[in-house]
This record gives sequence, structure tokens and C-alpha cells, in this order.
Amino acid sequence: MSRSSELFSKAQHSIPGGVNSPVRAFTGVGGDPIFFERANGPYMFDVDGNRYIDYVGSWGPMILGHNFPAIRDAAIEAAERGLSFGTPTAIEITMAEKIIEIVPSIEKVRMVNSGTEATMSAIRLARGYTKRDKILKFEGCYHGHVDSLLVKAGSGALTLGTPNSPGIPADLAQHTLTVSFNNLEEVNEVFEQYGDQIACIIVEPVAGNMNCIPPQPGFLEGLRKVCDDNGSVLIFDEVMTGFRVAPGGAQQYYAITPDLTCLGKVIGGGMPVGAFGGKREIMDHIAPTGPVYQAGTLSGNPVAMAAGLAALNALQEPGRYEQMNRSVEMLVKGLQDAADEAGIPLSINHVGGMFGFFFTDKDKVTSFADATACNMDHFKAFYHQMLKRGVYLAPSAFETGFMSMLHSDADIEQTIQAARESFAALNK
Ligand code: PMP
Repeated sequence: MSRSSELFSKAQHSIPGGVNSPVRAFTGVGGDPIFFERANGPYMFDVDGNRYIDYVGSWGPMILGHNFPAIRDAAIEAAERGLSFGTPTAIEITMAEKIIEIVPSIEKVRMVNSGTEATMSAIRLARGYTKRDKILKFEGCYHGHVDSLLVKAGSGALTLGTPNSPGIPADLAQHTLTVSFNNLEEVNEVFEQYGDQIACIIVEPVAGNMNCIPPQPGFLEGLRKVCDDNGSVLIFDEVMTGFRVAPGGAQQYYAITPDLTCLGKVIGGGMPVGAFGGKREIMDHIAPTGPVYQAGTLSGNPVAMAAGLAALNALQEPGRYEQMNRSVEMLVKGLQDAADEAGIPLSINHVGGMFGFFFTDKDKVTSFADATACNMDHFKAFYHQMLKRGVYLAPSAFETGFMSMLHSDADIEQTIQAARESFAALNK
């Protein structure tokens, strides 16, 4: 029995399901999860002494690779001065100014401790600002485990939300309207009926939680317009896309200006950090300036700020994004060629540092329905074949792939070779 499997058995006695976040448990691919003990650059090393080329990057934060020296050193140096003060600190201003400099739409920003806190706070702010209760989200978009956002309505544009986890009051979920991603018609229909009650639209501008699904041309523009026409707030959840699809996130890549933006992952350099920000006029509705309450004992924590700031500074060094984008292009082309050679139907999407491959005959995957109709048996088998060959992919068909800026051509070539062998094994 591997050490990982031993640890997983042990973990289940004291931790629900043996993990502190569900997708880590390999429920999407079967088998026992791997326990890791260290990581460096694009590699992670497990407790059994195996090395993996990592395309998860802690689910996004490790865009500069693992254990990036400048981030680690900044965190250690800050820790030596104290772990938390619960008072204002100068580095919080530097961090806020840095975010405002990089993310086009943000004029003021508040730090929190996770992506979930960022989206929860942003929708509260949108509701408080507009004095409306309803929110609109898209099926297959994940915004953290916020009560109002853990809702995925059944089909039909006008279906009112039903919670998709026990513990969420139906009375609350009914305020969440859910429509199909990339379907502007459904959005417009919902606005025709409920427009004056909708506080906000919240959207992942590139959906990364149903694999990787970019917005169709005109989709984000349409959301901007319907929000403007109805006095609703447009929230881009850039927890995943921020600092990844472009330095300034999807809003820069697609040149759309949201009213509020949620950030997380990359912004903490690996420490637990999130943020939400946007138009000054809206942000000033937050306490203590305004009446919408939002707070946090550890928000703006000095060690987390030091690590995050070091990450953002390093990302501004010339050539970083070009390197990552080249790596994604190379990987995508190699995977597609390898699948074609093996006669395995595969379709790949990618935007900047995000990519996703789908086992399907479809040329382009553009919707939640397309993503869920893929061949899951192929995905699971391919996953374990790749794992055996030292490639660590997200253990779910509904997660995007994350490239780092430290993956070398040799790493990508090795990954493509592993894929060639894995596709061949699927045919056996
Ligand atoms: N929004 C998006 C788009 C995410 O991908 C995630 C996490 N995967 C979250 C919000 C929640 O972030 P966290 O897990 O840090 O709470």
C-alpha cells in the first residue's frame, strides 16, 4: 500500500472524507488522492517519493511555480516582524495601489481571506447598493460556497433557483436566477421579467469551473449592456482569471469594464487571500464609509500581503505572460496532435494561462451542456494514465488546467509524450 493511501485511510477518521476541500478527494476520477510533501517550480513531490509535473498549481495561485524565491522570502521576512496586528499597516496601501494599477476597472479595493469571501461580499454590496434582492448567475459557474451562489437552476431561463446543497434555505435560493453561460437570449428574457429586481449579474468571464469555456463573442458585451439598461451591477468573478488570462484579467483581455471584480488565488502568492474592488462610488457603500457591513480579523494580514505583493511584482517582470502563453499553445497543440494520431476525439479550449480538454466529437465546447456531455470514462482513464507517467492534472473533468510561468519546453514535451502513451492506452 502506498504511503498516500495509508494517509488517506488515516485521514478519514478525523477529517470528513479525509480532505479539507471536497475535490481533493479524487471523487471525480476514482482512486485514492495523492498526498504531497513539497513542491518546487513546476514540480510537486509526493510522500512516496514520486515527482509530478503539476498543472493544478494549488488550483491557480502558483502561477510563478511553487516555492518562488521572492514570494517565500517576502513572507518569511514579514513573519519575522509579527504574524498579525489587526490594525492598519502600510503594506495594505501598497497592495491596494498595486491592484488598482494592474486591474483596469478597480478604483478602490478591500482585502479578504478567500475567493468565497470576495464573492459573498461583492454580492452583498451589490444588493445593498441597488436595494434589490435578486442576483443572476450562470449554470456551471462556481463562485465559492456562498449560500446564494450554490444554486444551479434546472433548465429554462425563467426557472427560479433551488439550492444544490442541503443547508441553504429555499427562501434565500429563490433570489438566485440561473441561466445558461454564453446564452444572451436567456439573460435578456430574465431581465425582461425581473429587470428592476436584479441587483447584479455575477459571472466567471472565462468559465473555469466547468472545465474551460471562454465567452462567445458578444456575450460579455451583452451582459454589460443589460446591466447598464437595468441599473444592475456587473460583477466579474476573476478569482481564477485574474492575473492569469492577462495581467489585468479577463476584463483587460476582452476589454469589458465590470462594476465590481472579485479576486483570489494568484493575488496571495499561495497565502489565503481574496479581494473585491471596483467603482469608487459603489465601494464607498462598504462600512465604515457606508452602511453595507463587511469585516475580517485577518483581512490584509501582513504576511499574506507581503507574499501577494511579491507575486504581483514578479508578474510585472517582462516576458512572463509571453512565456506562459507560449507554453499553453505548445501543450494544446501537442495534446491535440497526440489525440488525433490515436483517433481519440478531443476538443481543447484555452485562454492565456488557462486550458481545458474535452473528450468529445464536438469541434468547440461552448456550454455547460456540451461540457457535461463529454466522455467521462475516457477522462478518468486518461487521468490515471497521466498520473502514472508523472503528470498531475486536476482530478475532475470540470476544472480548468493551470499553466505556470516556470514550465519549460522540456516539461511540456514530457507531458505530450505521456499523453501520447496515455491516449494509446485508452485504445487497448
Ligand atoms: N470564484 C471562482 C471563479 C473560483 O474558481 C473559486 C475557487 N475555485 C472561488 C470563487 C472560491 O475561492 P476560494 O476557494 O478561495 O474560496
